[in-house]
Amino acid sequence: MLDSTPKEIRERAGGLINPAKTCQPIGAMYAALGIHRCLPHSHGSQGCCSYHRMHLSRHFRDPVMASTSSFTEGASVFGGGANLKTAIKTVFSVYDPDLIAVHTTCLSETIGDDIPTLVRTAEVPAGKLVIHANTPSYQGSHVTGFSNMTRAMVDYLAEVTAGTKKDQVNILPGFLNPGDMREIKRIAGLMADRYVMFPDTSGVVDSPITGRFEMYPRGGARVKDIADSGNSMLTIALGHYAAEDAANLLERKCRVPYRVLKTPIGVRATDRLLMALRNAFVREVPYELEEERGQLVDIMTDTHFHFHGKRVAIFGDPDLVMGLTEFLLSLGMKPIHVLTGTPGGTVASSSGVFEQGVKEMLEEAGVEGRVKAGGDLFELHQWIKNEPVDLLIGSTYGKYIARAEDVPFVRVGFPILDRSVHSYLPVVGYRGAMRLLEMISGALLDRADRDARDEDFELVM
Ligand code: SF4
Repeated sequence: MLDSTPKEIRERAGGLINPAKTCQPIGAMYAALGIHRCLPHSHGSQGCCSYHRMHLSRHFRDPVMASTSSFTEGASVFGGGANLKTAIKTVFSVYDPDLIAVHTTCLSETIGDDIPTLVRTAEVPAGKLVIHANTPSYQGSHVTGFSNMTRAMVDYLAEVTAGTKKDQVNILPGFLNPGDMREIKRIAGLMADRYVMFPDTSGVVDSPITGRFEMYPRGGARVKDIADSGNSMLTIALGHYAAEDAANLLERKCRVPYRVLKTPIGVRATDRLLMALRNAFVREVPYELEEERGQLVDIMTDTHFHFHGKRVAIFGDPDLVMGLTEFLLSLGMKPIHVLTGTPGGTVASSSGVFEQGVKEMLEEAGVEGRVKAGGDLFELHQWIKNEPVDLLIGSTYGKYIARAEDVPFVRVGFPILDRSVHSYLPVVGYRGAMRLLEMISGALLDRADRDARDEDFELVM
């Protein structure tokens, strides 16, 4: 299908071919699902909302609920204020959420609807809440949208109510699957006296089948806990792109200091998370986690020859890709092509952290590679044509490149539309790293088996 991608790389004036990202509201909708009894609301036309719900439903294989302002021709010309006010009233009376999280779309942003004023003057029943995030899709990516909605949670909900800071830590997990969020909570539960994590989509988009439809499953961060995050002594933001802006606002609004760590993929990044929690709570790491770490290092030692020197191309969301790059380097692999579709930095966070951060890791490991933020899959394919790799890691969209170049392919990231179960299982923490090792070595050894001559076809590898 992509057999015609040219090898010769030419300067392009603009535009993307096969983007390695999707639009802001998808991330905002996903983040909003991480609040218990919250209904995300798309302020735009029905098509946007349908697309965003469908994309999330396909990735998580669970129904994703959201409402829309349903713009018509009139709203598109004169603004969607009346639609939004009617929608808020209707949604509360028909679907009874505790909170509506409004995000904008390209259309409402282009019209210039004044969402803060509309939200402030809307009819909201007592005890109910409406928050909003601006998510113009001609900027950033779904990761930016996730970041903006997380920031809105702090903006609208976090408050200081206690005279002194509590012995509790906030964890902002970034754009991760619910399986990852569960794993981060398990680790935090072992290390912290008390923690507040938001958004938390575990128990929402991976809820069990019960035989009874539940509009609002059990999971999600509680509004009262998000409010209480203003009383915490520390915030740990996992990822510059999806979590730092909210942590930064929490510091400015509620004087909660923060640390930004890499998404905890692999030994070093998970160690950093544990050390940050250990220092905050002056607590020793429990044997349960020490044992997992030891098992992981044991596996890495036993299997290093599967990975050593293998050339890899990675693409996907910036926080995830940075964590993966560090982990692959620790295995002796060579990530020679590293790309994210998300451009630069998010609002108020340091721009260019992706390219600079990945290049520093590669330099430290003595690996020469190409790194790009705001890139597309056409370019990644051209890089691979010029410098072939042994493995490709990324979202489902990578399968076309993998097929064209006959490269083993491991699916990690968002979206994964052609496989299931992935969102239930973690890639973070020591256990997540073990799962990644199994996935990567499985792909490499399957290829070795496929290509082996009969006399080289081994039973034990
Ligand atoms: S119009 Fe904008 S918000 Fe709507 S689906 Fe397209 S890119 Fe996303």
